[in-house]
Amino acid sequence: MPTGRHHRVDIAVLGGGAIGLACAWRARRQGLSVMLVERDGLGSGASKVAAGMLAPVAEAEFGDAARSVLEMNLRSAAMWPAFAAELGQAAGIEVKLHRSGTLLLARDADEARELERSSALRDSLGLQTRRLRASQARALEPALAPTVRLALEAPDDHSVDPRNLIEALARACTRAGVQVLAEAGPAALELDADGAVRGLRLHDGSIVEATTVVLAAGAWSGSVEGLPPEALPSVRPVKGQILRLRDPAGPGMITRVLRYEGGYIVPRGDGRYVLGATVEEQGFDASPTAGGLYELLRQAWELVPGITELAIEELGVSFRPGTPDNVPLIGPGGAPGLLCATGHYRNGILLTPLTAELVCQALAGAVAA
Ligand SMILES: Cc1cc2nc3c(=O)[nH]c(=O)nc-3n(C[C@H](O)[C@H](O)[C@H](O)COP(=O)(O)OP(=O)(O)OC[C@H]3O[C@@H](n4cnc5c(N)ncnc54)[C@H](O)[C@@H]3O)c2cc1C
Repeated sequence: MPTGRHHRVDIAVLGGGAIGLACAWRARRQGLSVMLVERDGLGSGASKVAAGMLAPVAEAEFGDAARSVLEMNLRSAAMWPAFAAELGQAAGIEVKLHRSGTLLLARDADEARELERSSALRDSLGLQTRRLRASQARALEPALAPTVRLALEAPDDHSVDPRNLIEALARACTRAGVQVLAEAGPAALELDADGAVRGLRLHDGSIVEATTVVLAAGAWSGSVEGLPPEALPSVRPVKGQILRLRDPAGPGMITRVLRYEGGYIVPRGDGRYVLGATVEEQGFDASPTAGGLYELLRQAWELVPGITELAIEELGVSFRPGTPDNVPLIGPGGAPGLLCATGHYRNGILLTPLTAELVCQALAGAVAA
C-alpha cells in the first residue's frame, strides 16, 4: 500500500476488473513487483455484472474480425479448466466451472432459418454442435415452452460465476504479494518529458513509477486521463442491463445455458439465474430502464414461462468495453511504457486466462529490455 508520495514497481495495473486482476496475479507469479489501482471496489465495473458465459461456439459470427475473436475465444476456453484449478489453489477457494453446455433456441420460422444459417457456419468452422428437434430440446429442458421451433446444442459452452472469479483473483493477488489499492479514486497515466508512460498518478497525488503500465480499465480505457486522446485506445462503452433472479423452489428449473434472439438465461446451479442482457449504445448512462427490463422479461418468458415465478434479486447495469471491430486490444499501447489489455466487449470473462498469458509474455520482454 502506498504510504509516501512516491512508489516504484515493475508493473502498475490500472483497473481492478477480471482482466486487471488476472494480469496482476500472473505478473506477480513471474516474480515482478506489481501494484494494481482500482478507483472503486474490485470488479465493480463490468466484471461483477457479467453473466459469466464461456461461450466461444455460441458467440461465433460471420466475418474476418469475428474469426479472430473466435480463435481467441476458443484458445481461452481451452485454458479455463487449468486456470480455474490453479486460481482456486492459489486463492484457497474453489473456482467453480459450471459445465452445463448451452442450447441456442429459435422460436419461429425466421429465427429457425437464422439458426440453420449459423449452424452451417459453425459446421464449416469445425465447431461442435448438435441439431435438436423441439421435442428433443424440451426433453432436455422441460421448462421450455412449446413455442420452441429448433435448437442447437453447444455442449462445450459453459459458464462461471464472475463474482466467484473476482473474489478468487482478489485473494490470489493479495496472497501472491500484489499491492492492491482499491477504492482509490481515479488514477491517471503519468508521462515523462518524451511522452513515454512512466507510471500512474494516483487520486491522492502520489506517483507510482513503473517500468510498464497495464491499461485494464475496461470501458473506461478510452477516457483515462494523462495521455493525449489520439494515443488512447479506441474503446467505447456498450451498456448492458441484466437481471439476477432466484427460484424460491430451489435449483432445477433450467440446467443448461439458454440463448435466443435478444437474450439468454444462465443457471448458476443453485436456484439462481442470470437473465441478460440489453445491448445499448448510450454512452455511460447507467440508469436502468423500464423498457430494457420489460424486453428482457418478455423475451425470456416466451421461451420459459416459469420465469415469472422467480424472485428478483438484482437489476445490474454496466458497460462492455467495445472496440471498432470488437476485437480486444492486447499489446503495446499508444505510448512507450503502456500495454493495453482492454476492449474485450462481450467476452472478457471468457478471455481472462488468455489475456493474462499474453500480457505476461509481453511484460517479460518489456522488463528484460
Ligand atoms: C451485461 C453484461 C453481460 C456480460 N456477460 C458476459 C459473459 O457472459 N461472458 C463474458 O465473457 N463476458 C461478459 N461480459 C463482458 C465482460 O463483463 C467484460 O468484457 C469484462 O468484464 C471486462 O473486464 P475488464 O476487467 O476489462 O473491465 P471491468 O470489469 O469494467 O474493469 C475495469 C475497472 O477499471 C476501473 N477503472 C476505470 N477507470 C479507472 C481509473 N481512471 N482509475 C482506476 N480504476 C479505473 C473501473 O472502476 C473498473 O472496475 C458482459 C458484460 C456485461 C455488461
